[in-house]
Amino acid sequence: MVKCSYCGKPAVYINKVGNIAYCRQHFIEYFEHKARKTIRKYNMIKPGDHVLIGVSGGKDSMALLHFLLKLKKKMQRLEITAVLVDEGISGYREKTIPNLVNYAEKYGVKYIIASFRDYIGATLDDIVKTSFQNNLPYMPCSYCGVFRRYVLNKVAREINANVIATAHNMDDIVQTYLMNLVSNSWDRIVSLGPVRSSSEEYIVKRIKPFYELSEKETALYALLNNLIQPDFNQCPYVKYNIRFTIRKLINELEDKYPGSKYGLLRSLLNIINMQNKFKIYEKKYKTCLLCGNPSSHSVCKACLFRAKLNLLNTEQYNKLAEITSSDTEVARALKS
Ligand SMILES: [Zn+2]
Ligand SMILES: [Zn+2]
Repeated sequence: MVKCSYCGKPAVYINKVGNIAYCRQHFIEYFEHKARKTIRKYNMIKPGDHVLIGVSGGKDSMALLHFLLKLKKKMQRLEITAVLVDEGISGYREKTIPNLVNYAEKYGVKYIIASFRDYIGATLDDIVKTSFQNNLPYMPCSYCGVFRRYVLNKVAREINANVIATAHNMDDIVQTYLMNLVSNSWDRIVSLGPVRSSSEEYIVKRIKPFYELSEKETALYALLNNLIQPDFNQCPYVKYNIRFTIRKLINELEDKYPGSKYGLLRSLLNIINMQNKFKIYEKKYKTCLLCGNPSSHSVCKACLFRAKLNLLNTEQYNKLAEITSSDTEVARALKS
């Protein structure tokens, strides 16, 4: 039996990189210390902030909610609202929504359930159906990612939250980094930092407190704190995503060469530092003329998707026609 490197009790986790073993208590201390350090290092949260936590009810986001609630006890005037985006994937969310609701009611956390049906006009299941029927060239995860961001931004504005916290961990980040390398999307790569703040005030600051913690560590933290149901299942659309393959690849690499993930993360941070210094990929933000959310074009990606899926109202379609008559960029995006 492996023993905790600090106290000699039975170990629940071994960090292969430094070869350090942790018992339950020392693992939780290590995990929370690392997340707090990340928050301090990147100035993520300050007293008086209202933090919207994007929660799915799954292990990662429940871990984030639990951790930030603990932080709130130490930090004055920190307001927290958990927001669960219900995409409308049958057989999936029914299992994770109770995770959030039970937890929030037990600990007195404010929470909101915002559905695709209310905010987008259709469930993801319906969207995927329409998309296949109309031969649109997008995978379910493209819609989901764009629409989830759209809903979170919208809710943040509605409740006056000035920070959006998401539970992305090191594995998520490194996977997205490689996916964007494959598609040569450097403007996206440079936006994968631990914090996205903007000088323009209508963009809500986005933070990732688990940036330097692995998927394994986050899952263990959730498990040790009894935050998830043991039968937790994964999204049924995951097999359509290139992430699925890249995740397997990176895990194989990490198995053979421990520390590879962290190495990739460091290389990403290096690129982001260079971007901050030399501003090679400058993204100018505007306000979407249809919905008011931040966007790099005059119509945001979510509204373009909604237009193609017949989900805008008449007034919005008229407005869009007016925009496309003078904005060739939007007209092209609508056709592609
Ligand atoms: Zn110990
Ligand atoms: Zn929009």
